[in-house]
Amino acid sequence: MAMSKLSDLDVSGKRVLCRVDFNVSTDKKTGEIKDDTRIVAALPTIKYLTDRGAKVILCSHFGRPEGRDPKLSLKPVSERLTERWGKPTAFADDCVGEVAEKAVSAMKNGDVLLLENLRYHAGEEADDAAFSAQLAKLADVYVDDAFGAAHRAHASVHAVAKLIPQKAAGLLLEKEVEYLGKALENPERPMVVILGGAKVSDKIKVIEKMIDVADTILIGGAMSYTFAVAEGFSVGKSRFEADKVELARHVRKLAAEKGKKFLLPLDHVVTQKFEAHAPHQVVGWGKIPDEWDSLDIGPKTVELFSKEIATAKMIVWNGPLGVFELEPFNAGTFAIAKAVAANTSATSIVGGGESVAAVKKAKLSDKITHVSTGGGASLEFLEGKLLPGVAALAK
Ligand code: AMP
Repeated sequence: MAMSKLSDLDVSGKRVLCRVDFNVSTDKKTGEIKDDTRIVAALPTIKYLTDRGAKVILCSHFGRPEGRDPKLSLKPVSERLTERWGKPTAFADDCVGEVAEKAVSAMKNGDVLLLENLRYHAGEEADDAAFSAQLAKLADVYVDDAFGAAHRAHASVHAVAKLIPQKAAGLLLEKEVEYLGKALENPERPMVVILGGAKVSDKIKVIEKMIDVADTILIGGAMSYTFAVAEGFSVGKSRFEADKVELARHVRKLAAEKGKKFLLPLDHVVTQKFEAHAPHQVVGWGKIPDEWDSLDIGPKTVELFSKEIATAKMIVWNGPLGVFELEPFNAGTFAIAKAVAANTSATSIVGGGESVAAVKKAKLSDKITHVSTGGGASLEFLEGKLLPGVAALAK
């Protein structure tokens, strides 16, 4: 699907409502911003628009407030934005109504204004017509740069786009769709997909889609234990989904029918305690003792998967291969991150919240071609779904 791009728009002197994803992660106790990647990621679009004399009105959701919750105000984000932008930016205490309208009417060309949390209004998540009309009233042009919110048909990414005829994708959203779209429609081959994480049920549609488009699928994480059970093995205390065993069998059959390489781990790192630095040992595939819990892929699996990754021309990775939050059970995930980073001749894409966190923790993000900013959105995109926020920008 062809999307309108910023270069299709004339924004000079126009009021541009720009939906960004400033849903940053914060410290649970202090509320301090822990990671401002999402703010930094929006800067190229803000620069593009201000360089052309637009009045840039930013809007975003933040957390899941029920009504006006001061703990989920975007005010601290606006302060961090000013720091990152390096020039003053304004903040409006509400995203619609008199407060927002007044703030917009005070703007000059090239100014940047951030509106308060969209989710202070129930109309945002309800994709409400009256709420989106209030938002649309603020602007002449609509730009969506919030890939992280593109899978939700909420007012600021969906209904509002219908009300503002002049609209386009921001640079970040355009880049996301370009890379993820390439993986689905025109991948370089061989294409290797690494899938991990907690549950088969969360990823089943991606697994099925990837069996269609990829050449090799590598499975790790807790979801691999459901496949082990499907082969008749016991997995001790390891996490698996009893009701997805049949589905796991079906998926393997599907991969075999389509002639795809579908590789499961060769070994596991098992422990009796789910805690950091717990005593652990390596056992072979299907050899998890009773009362033991497998928390990572073992060294033979790392070697096998790394060989596949080294020969790939396109790599897509979603989901950690073990409990990367706990040392030393992060070793498998970090080794795979290194293998992906080391293949500089491949286009590598990491999508999905936890795998992105793992790559960041391994300090390898800058070695990945494209680190997606959307967890749920990248997952749904890779399922082959047309996301509402993307569909709304159709040419
Ligand atoms: P997801 O959000 O589905 O990608 O799952 C990510 C979570 O899966 C992470 O928090 C990991 O700790 C968890 N995970 C990965 N491997 C295992 C495992 N072997 N046992 C338990 N949890 C795991």
